[in-house]
Amino acid sequence: MVKGEKQEKFTIGVLTSGGDCPGMNAAYRAVARVALNRGHKVVAFRWGYKGLIEGDAMSVSYLDLADILQRGGTVLGSARCDEFETKEGREAAIKALKSWEIDYLVVIGGDGSLTGALALTRKGVKIVGIPKTIDNDVPELDTTIGFDSAVNTVVDALTKLRDTASSHHRAFIIETMGRHSGWLALASGIAGGADIILLPEVPIDYPALAKEVERRLKAWGAYVLIVVAEGASRGSDVKTVLQSLLTKPVDLRVTVLGHIQRGGSPTAYDRILASRLGFEVINAIERGEHGVYIGLAKNEITSFPLERLEGPKRVINHSLYEMSRQLK
Ligand code: ADP
Repeated sequence: MVKGEKQEKFTIGVLTSGGDCPGMNAAYRAVARVALNRGHKVVAFRWGYKGLIEGDAMSVSYLDLADILQRGGTVLGSARCDEFETKEGREAAIKALKSWEIDYLVVIGGDGSLTGALALTRKGVKIVGIPKTIDNDVPELDTTIGFDSAVNTVVDALTKLRDTASSHHRAFIIETMGRHSGWLALASGIAGGADIILLPEVPIDYPALAKEVERRLKAWGAYVLIVVAEGASRGSDVKTVLQSLLTKPVDLRVTVLGHIQRGGSPTAYDRILASRLGFEVINAIERGEHGVYIGLAKNEITSFPLERLEGPKRVINHSLYEMSRQLK
């Protein structure tokens, strides 16, 4: 837009899609608040692409956005929608977008949701995405909303499990989420002081692991905290194999953290990140940018073409992993 030219007003649609995580509400709030403050209209679709296909939408006002910044999950709801993966489903979505006169659609979602968004952009829909994932594996980005909150949840669990491990001279195996990415296990393992961190990216050397557990438990009152990402192995399988290799019986316990890692109030970091991303989404829309996702890259809020998501995922920082091995 040329300086002094009047900013065009848009109808901006917004939805949350995919697995929930802390910070989605903060992102929705930022997108909608900034848009409303600048005179745009905001329409929110409920239940992700399902609601989009069904035209389940509401016009958003300031009051709808009150009291949601600190809430986990997504107040707009999220759902799996197999229909959206079909041509007919996406055509129904485009019809709904037209009937609500949406100029730009903002998708706050994970990898799958943004891949779905890419399919819509190829049909001419103008979309800006905000990636969210506790896996932290989005190409190009330093981090994503939800990750810091999930790390803090795991660290909190580690702190509590350390108490019981140290009181009972036990080895604890703590299974985190992360089917393909070890970021969550690595970051929380470092921050929570885990003795051993097992990641999908690094094959498990079980004989060495058994030796390490035995060596650590020799000292009086010693205990062991092993963090394992579910993609490296299930915690129960680590226990079974370890038991078969240990020369003396060890009190091995498994804790699967499961869905608590996705829940809870977002951390201050995630709230600020989500707010910055939501703000930048509206700036991008006003610049006429679309077909992009927006995130933190090299510590700057930056946009990337949605096509970038079809490339390789962001891998763990191996030097961080090597560092973690020297901290134990
Ligand atoms: P996330 O966004 O958290 O990765 P999912 O992978 O479950 O979560 O994706 C959420 C929704 O996005 C799916 O239910 C589906 O409607 C849509 N979606 C996922 N992958 C695709 C795809 N390849 N093409 C079109 N839509 C997709």
